[in-house]
Amino acid sequence: MSETINLADKIEKQLPAELVNFMQTAGKIAASQGQNLYLVGGIVRDLLLGKSNFDLDLVVEGDAIDLAHQLNNIKQGKITTHPRFKTAKLKWDKWSVDLTTARAETYARPGALPSVKPDSLTSDLFRRDFTINAMAIGLNPTRYGELIDRYGGKNDLERKLIRILHDKSFIDDATRIWRGLRYEQRLNFQLERNTIKLLKRDIPMLDTISGDRIRYELECIFHEERPEKGLRRAEELGVLPRLHPALKGDSWLAEKFESARQLTSPTPPPIGLYLALLTYRLSDAENEHLISYLRLSKPIAQTLRDSINLTVKLKLLDDPNIMSSNIYHTLHGYSPPALIANSLASESTVARRHIQLFLDKLCYVKPSLTGNDLQKMGIIPGPQIKETLEQLHEARLDGKVSSKKDEMKLVKGWLG
Ligand code: ATP
Repeated sequence: MSETINLADKIEKQLPAELVNFMQTAGKIAASQGQNLYLVGGIVRDLLLGKSNFDLDLVVEGDAIDLAHQLNNIKQGKITTHPRFKTAKLKWDKWSVDLTTARAETYARPGALPSVKPDSLTSDLFRRDFTINAMAIGLNPTRYGELIDRYGGKNDLERKLIRILHDKSFIDDATRIWRGLRYEQRLNFQLERNTIKLLKRDIPMLDTISGDRIRYELECIFHEERPEKGLRRAEELGVLPRLHPALKGDSWLAEKFESARQLTSPTPPPIGLYLALLTYRLSDAENEHLISYLRLSKPIAQTLRDSINLTVKLKLLDDPNIMSSNIYHTLHGYSPPALIANSLASESTVARRHIQLFLDKLCYVKPSLTGNDLQKMGIIPGPQIKETLEQLHEARLDGKVSSKKDEMKLVKGWLG
């Protein structure tokens, strides 16, 4: 028998006192009702790695919804329950905890959402993606802090390996292919040899996954510190080409992602910007295919379309003598992430400078005079007001006027 490892000290050191107290209370309540409560998944992995993670995932051999209600009586927060899946989410102050009833999963067909039935912790851990994510910690008072590691997760953590739990894992759920390479790149681990072999074998299984779920996996990659690492690996393993053969996770992309981060720092770039760079080298038709397969939201789809349409306009912007009003009319109406993507991706420094000028200055330029002012100056209400305002806007953009007084002088001149 292997020795028992107790992580109570690590829990105490790494987690906020509020969460530690919460888990201890939850463990006591569960035990008083003959149920077993555990901390599971990513947070156990990160506790062992010494990485910060406050996403509490609790599994109960018993009834998660009932336990969540009892805990909420104490916390007086907000509870959301899903009776069909026997899960609950509890939120109070800035904290959020997921409670799940221990369950086994079966897959009617590859890629389908699983059917679930209550079961033991061992089955619950067996349904998980990788050994390093399939560990638990006991929370009942009699075994508080005890590491439960049925599938060798701790050993794999030490050897820096990402390993599936059984040979059909990627067939059951091919999103694990994306998850695996994401963990590998985030943690600087390696996909274990047999896992890689099966991953490559099961690449065609990615086609069994809905676009919505693949989009979610991509979003997770974009939330990583350096998404280009995951995308490079996805290309290398044939995962990215399966999404679309024209997508590349190469050094060009890595360089653009890095520049995007420098530009938006300290906030990370929005997903639309990352996606616009990823799809920058696609044709219109390829882009449309991806938009509909991934069922991208309207604003993101618009950003991708804008971004590709803008590439054609870059030639106009390559002229060092172009008037500012021309820059404005060329770029006005396009979504800001699409403009930024083009300023990062364009080969022409002149075009890049012009996009930057638009974003920093020209898009904010407005005439000082209003329609009312123009009426007071004697212009008859109607189309002439609109035209005059447009001409004033133009004059402002091109620096021909720079104050309200200048504008009045100009209009008076026009009126003769
Ligand atoms: P992250 O640090 O990326 O948030 P996490 O491990 O907390 O990682 P979640 O996506 O929040 O990941 O999932 C929580 C747990 O649920 C995982 O640790 C894993 O045990 C399990 N899990 C999630 N997705 C799958 C899946 N597709 N197949 C099997 N198990 C999964």
